[in-house]
Amino acid sequence: MKHQPDVAPEILLKRFQDLPDRKLLRAAIEEGFKGRVAVVSSFGAESAIVLSLVAEIDPSVPVIFLDTGKHFPETLDYRDQLIDRFGLTDVRSVKPAVVDLAQEDPDGTLWQRNTVRCCELRKVAPLSQALEGFDAWVTGRKRFHGALRSYLPRIEHDGTHFKINPIVDWSAEKIEQSFDDLNLPRHPLTEDGFLSIGCAPCTQAPLDESAVRSGRWAGSQKTECGIHDRPAPSTVPNARRPGTPLPGC
Ligand code: SF4
Repeated sequence: MKHQPDVAPEILLKRFQDLPDRKLLRAAIEEGFKGRVAVVSSFGAESAIVLSLVAEIDPSVPVIFLDTGKHFPETLDYRDQLIDRFGLTDVRSVKPAVVDLAQEDPDGTLWQRNTVRCCELRKVAPLSQALEGFDAWVTGRKRFHGALRSYLPRIEHDGTHFKINPIVDWSAEKIEQSFDDLNLPRHPLTEDGFLSIGCAPCTQAPLDESAVRSGRWAGSQKTECGIHDRPAPSTVPNARRPGTPLPGC
């Protein structure tokens, strides 16, 4: 049975909405959602930042990695490298359901025909299951990535879970500086110009470096995988422009 938070979502949203990165994470991990919060990480180009901040507080916080079966081998290696670097003790590599793949993607080419359904099978459904038992999850989304992410609040509620976005207001320059200051390892594909890294079939280096995510599902209308598409009735008012759709993963 899902845990019912003691405090109404609206109260928690107001309490946490103005806390900066580390304070927000500490408040979520040690107070508001103690034992009921997970990090969701793609182990992509900028993932080391949030993981380092979380590990400073508690390296045993569960980290969910959606192991879609379509990642670059470099991403899987980088995942293991970061686990060692930060001493993460509870990284959960979550795979799609075997029965779903057998029924709808037996030859692994669904992404060529229907990226929406492929993401549902390989990302949305596994994450939904993995988040059972948690009240909140941490994302690494940033406003400077643009498009649907431009108006993200620090914390939001989608009707079932809180989503905590501790570095939502970080700039590209601040992220770069933190990589240098903390001597964080880089995802190997950043050397090839990749700025946002997801599944191999749907990721390429961006043609326009000012559009960080333009190498994702390039040439199609799709810009997000769908894990954030649920309605957010309790999102803090004024945190994003009214009428804008929810940002994605
Ligand atoms: S990003 Fe591409 S390969 Fe990965 S789950 Fe989505 S459609 Fe499938």
